[in-house]
Amino acid sequence: MSGWGRTNPAPVTLLRPAGSGQISELLAGEAPVRGLIARGAGRSYGDAAQNSDGTVLDMTGFSGVGAIDSRTGEVRVGAGTTFAELLETLAAHGLTLPVVPGTAHLTVGGAIAADVHGKNHPDAGSIARHVRSFALCTPAAGENEVAENDDPELFAATLGGMGLTGVITAATLRTIVLRSPCALADIDKLDRLEDALELLDSATHTHGIAWLDLMSPGRDFGRAVVTRSREGDEAAGPGQLGLAAARTGFAGRLPAGLLRPASVRAFNALHWLRAPRIARERPLSAGAALFPLDGVGGWNRLYGRRGLIQYQFAVPDGEESTLRSLLEMLRARHVPMYLASLKRLGPAGPGLLSFPIEGWTLAIDIPGRAPGLAAALDRADLLVASAGGRVYLAKDARMSPERLAAMYPELPRFLEVRARVDPHERLRSDLSRRLGLTR
Ligand SMILES: Cc1cc2nc3c(=O)[nH]c(=O)nc-3n(C[C@H](O)[C@H](O)[C@H](O)COP(=O)(O)OP(=O)(O)OC[C@H]3O[C@@H](n4cnc5c(N)ncnc54)[C@H](O)[C@@H]3O)c2cc1C
Repeated sequence: MSGWGRTNPAPVTLLRPAGSGQISELLAGEAPVRGLIARGAGRSYGDAAQNSDGTVLDMTGFSGVGAIDSRTGEVRVGAGTTFAELLETLAAHGLTLPVVPGTAHLTVGGAIAADVHGKNHPDAGSIARHVRSFALCTPAAGENEVAENDDPELFAATLGGMGLTGVITAATLRTIVLRSPCALADIDKLDRLEDALELLDSATHTHGIAWLDLMSPGRDFGRAVVTRSREGDEAAGPGQLGLAAARTGFAGRLPAGLLRPASVRAFNALHWLRAPRIARERPLSAGAALFPLDGVGGWNRLYGRRGLIQYQFAVPDGEESTLRSLLEMLRARHVPMYLASLKRLGPAGPGLLSFPIEGWTLAIDIPGRAPGLAAALDRADLLVASAGGRVYLAKDARMSPERLAAMYPELPRFLEVRARVDPHERLRSDLSRRLGLTR
């Protein structure tokens, strides 16, 4: 079993629990030697949802969309339900989720455990802002419904807590009215990273993302295509969501390991050429606007046997120069940066280990086989930590415990909650061991 990046495969015992009673029993009973951890759809890139020589609980059986409260718009949903399924069901009721990440194929439990964010973080925050409550099985107390007012520390530790405070079986989420099945996008092609920052900073749209070309040499390094969008004007018909891009898939038919620096450089050059210098109010389907990569099912296999690292980090406002210096450092070390995207982040939410902080986040896809990668990313961690930034745990497969402590100042509070709800450290993952969150 491995994460989406396929870098650190692990032998595990996979259990598919039949109900929350069985999970509570497993957590309270004789602990498996190497502990256990919940797993959703396995869309985290690194080693968060695996447990070498230990037990993994496949939560995808806990799926299903329950009642929607017509007064509040809140929906009760099983933790193993995918966003794709939830969004389709909500659309039939003229509703949608206020926050979705760049894939629809994740589960609700995985979304809460990573406290995911979308392209509209300044506007909507991360998913934490829209979680009313969740049912959580902990080793110390079995299954309980947790809302912010009941147990604020446990609530905050579970949002972004990477499954280490308990197993979520269901959640109640806030929804919003779905006004249109499509988005209207403004697209700008810019020669410099700094211009992209300036454009993404203008609060004129709800959603914004920049694709950066980090494979072209010389002055083209860092050129950007910025897409900023807002909801379309065309009214949504019942059930009309336009998730089509999430359903197609052809990467499975391409040879694994297809991606090489020369082919990626050519792809990037083509992408750049095809992008308009300026386009205004271009209609995009929800699938194309929100989940462009989902259209290429199984694209992670194109990186070959050694997989890919997605290095995603955030730096606070005022530290924009770190983005440039980090990229120049990686370029000087000949690290191939195949795909890169930049987003604006708004104020941080309540999650103790949540990733978003007010500033900027950059995600860079790098082949796992790149020579010198480990040392280059250690250096990058140092730059990010010195800038008051952090690496995203849902993407991480290689960071050290020392850096974690420097990047996440609320770590002591998180560990206090863990000691209370899981005193014997039954919940463990490869990530938790590597980062010293558990023994
Ligand atoms: C193409 C792509 C685009 C992405 N874009 C974004 C993005 O824009 N923004 C963003 O924030 N993230 C993004 N991600 C990351 C992804 O949203 C997160 O990694 C998310 O956690 C994956 O959910 P999952 O159901 O696959 O969980 P898994 O990967 O299976 O697990 C992730 C973590 O959640 C825990 N977990 C899972 N289920 C439960 C449960 N029921 N109870 C307790 N803990 C649980 C696991 O223990 C693990 O720690 C992207 C990933 C991909 C592949």
